Amino acid sequence: MNASFRVPSKDYAVQYRDLLGELMPALERAFLSDDPILGEATDRFERAFAEYLGVAHVVGVNSGTDALILALRALGVGPGDEVVTNANTFIATVSAIHLVGARPVLVDPDPDTMAVTAVTIESAATPRTRAFLPAHLYGFLPPMDGIVDACRRLGVALVEDAAQAHGAIGGDGRRAGTYGAAGCFSFHPSKNLGAFGDAGAIATSDETLAARLRRLRNLGKETKHEVRHLTTNTKLDTLQAVILELKLPRLDAWNGRRRQIAARYDERLSGIGDLVLPPRANDGSHVYHLYVVRTERRDALRDHLKRRGVNAGLHYPIPPHRQRLDVDLGYAEGDFPVAEACARTVLSLPVSPELTDAQIDVVCDEVDAFFGGAA
Ligand SMILES: *Cc1c(COP(=O)(O)O)cnc(C)c1O
Repeated sequence: MNASFRVPSKDYAVQYRDLLGELMPALERAFLSDDPILGEATDRFERAFAEYLGVAHVVGVNSGTDALILALRALGVGPGDEVVTNANTFIATVSAIHLVGARPVLVDPDPDTMAVTAVTIESAATPRTRAFLPAHLYGFLPPMDGIVDACRRLGVALVEDAAQAHGAIGGDGRRAGTYGAAGCFSFHPSKNLGAFGDAGAIATSDETLAARLRRLRNLGKETKHEVRHLTTNTKLDTLQAVILELKLPRLDAWNGRRRQIAARYDERLSGIGDLVLPPRANDGSHVYHLYVVRTERRDALRDHLKRRGVNAGLHYPIPPHRQRLDVDLGYAEGDFPVAEACARTVLSLPVSPELTDAQIDVVCDEVDAFFGGAA
């Protein structure tokens, strides 16, 4: 599929070709370990990721969606509760809130950053609010101090959806996913730190919460035969853990390369047509999971790029409250003007670390050509 694009949105084969020399012996050891699930490799990766993030515990699960569901469940969020999140988030954030029985309360993001702020998130709080669940979309970590303060003042839990923000560092030096009671990560292959299949994790420094999460991911088991919760089965496989363990030491360099690509885009695309560029944050608070530009001519630009061999993506063209769901979220068109404008105008330019400068220049040239080459 990538063969048809001069500039694919991502290229797993290029990434793995570099890793195979180390990966194959590690996989061989794993296959011979008699330890297919929750084995030593999972322990090692959980410890390494906890150390990287600066938290006490990481609990590996099957997906980012499960990480969100388990984090909310472990905090006791359930029927009758409300959880506030961004109206422009990926559907999984909203699904997780619904699946624990709580009501997803959506708030419009800030039009400049497309992220939630303390003010917007606090404006949606009611006596039923049990948690704030900001999703750090595209890899951008918004200023967290106000959000942390608001949670403390209101007595609600802070759970971060950091599925797109592995490694992002806030102004106070802390990493995305470590500001609240729990930080949820996805290791979907497309993410900044990706497995070769589905995987996810929850980060927390709360010992009791971590113990509950370890039970909640494993059929409620406290010991082999003693069960504390009726729950699901969502454990991190050894093979995925081996891949993640090998990739983790490379995450910062890969994020650095993403920032380099973003800086090149920032420089070459500023002032072209009606393009709105992502919030500039080359201080480490943006790890550019996606480089998302906005333009009223989004569909035409995307078609042009596709014809010219550039695969640009849409994240996301239909916001959760505009999906034709089998449940009623209680929202209608027009409720979230910023999220709806984003859905109409966002376009993700290729920003994978394996792309070359020449490929990024192709994207810039083609965007420039589309807008008339005025620059
Ligand atoms: C990818 C993603 C998820 C879900 O992760 P999965 O591992 O695919 O279940 C949740 N939230 C956001 C913001 C994501 O980008």
